[in-house]
Amino acid sequence: MSRIVYVNGQYLPEGEARVSIFDRGFLMADAVYEVTSVLGGKLIDFAGHCTRLRRSLGELDMASPCSDDELLAIHRELVARNAVVDGMIYLQVTRGNPGDRDFAFPDASVTPTLVLFTQSKPGLAESPAAKVGIKVISIEDIRWGRRDIKTVQLLYPSMGKMMAKKAGADDAWLVEDGFVTEGTSNNAYIVTGGRIITRNLGNEILHGITRAAVLRFAREAQMEIEERPFTIDEAKAADEAFITSASAFVMPVVEIDGTKLGAGVPGPVAKRLRELYIDEMRKAAI
Ligand code: PMP
Repeated sequence: MSRIVYVNGQYLPEGEARVSIFDRGFLMADAVYEVTSVLGGKLIDFAGHCTRLRRSLGELDMASPCSDDELLAIHRELVARNAVVDGMIYLQVTRGNPGDRDFAFPDASVTPTLVLFTQSKPGLAESPAAKVGIKVISIEDIRWGRRDIKTVQLLYPSMGKMMAKKAGADDAWLVEDGFVTEGTSNNAYIVTGGRIITRNLGNEILHGITRAAVLRFAREAQMEIEERPFTIDEAKAADEAFITSASAFVMPVVEIDGTKLGAGVPGPVAKRLRELYIDEMRKAAI
C-alpha cells in the first residue's frame, strides 16, 4: 500500500516524493531525525521528541524548518491520511540543498529539508519479542564523539545490527574503554539486587526520550537507580537487563555474548517497567 508522505510543505504519494541529489542529508549525512511512536492513533511523548529535535538542531547550528505546533499538525495529518493505529513516524531535517557539493555549510538563504513518513506496525505494544526477551552481543563502539546529537550517521549502528544477526543475536551493545555506552539504537540497562544501572548522560550516548520517561516512572515507583557506566562482565553477572527506545519501549535482554542472565527469561523489573511505561504513555498520548 502506497503511503502519503510529507516533503517540504507537500503531502505526496511516496513514489512522487523527491529530494535533491545535492541535499546535504544525502551527500554529508548533515541531518538529524526523530522517531515518534503511535499507539491507538495517538503520539507518544511528542513533546520530548520536539525538545530533543530542537537541541540536535541547535548543537549543529541548523535552521529549524517550522514550529513545534506545525510539526504536531504534520504528524497528526500523516497519522490520519495513512490511518495509522500503531506504528512510528520518522522525521528528518537536513541542512538543505545548496545546489552543489561543498564541505562548508551553505548560507542562511538555503532552507532546511523536512521529510516525514509513517511506518505502520499493528500491535506494536504487544511485540512477541518482549515476551521472550532479546539476545545481544558486545562490539566495540567506534562511533564519533557527539552521540548526544541524533544525526542520521547510522552506518555503524547498521553494521552492528548485521554483526549481531550473523552471530545469531538480535542486537549489539557498544563498548568503549571497557564500558557499555548503549545499544545500536537504544539505551542499555542492567538490574542487580533490585537496582537499575544505566550509563549516565553525556556526549557518549543519545539522551533517550524513553530513557527519561522510564527512569521517571522507576523513581516514582521507589525503585533504586544508579546512573553510571557498567562493564560487559558486570552485565553478564546481573540479575536481568533491558533496553529502551521509542519503538521498542522497554525490551528485556536475556542473553549477552552467549551468557544467559539468570534463568534466561525476562526479569520482573523489565516486565514491570514495560507495563508501567506503556500504560502511562498511552494515557498521556496526544
Ligand atoms: N541510543 C541510540 C543510539 C538510539 O539510536 C536510540 C533510538 N533512536 C536510543 C538510544 C533511544 O532513544 P529514544 O528512547 O529517544 O528512542
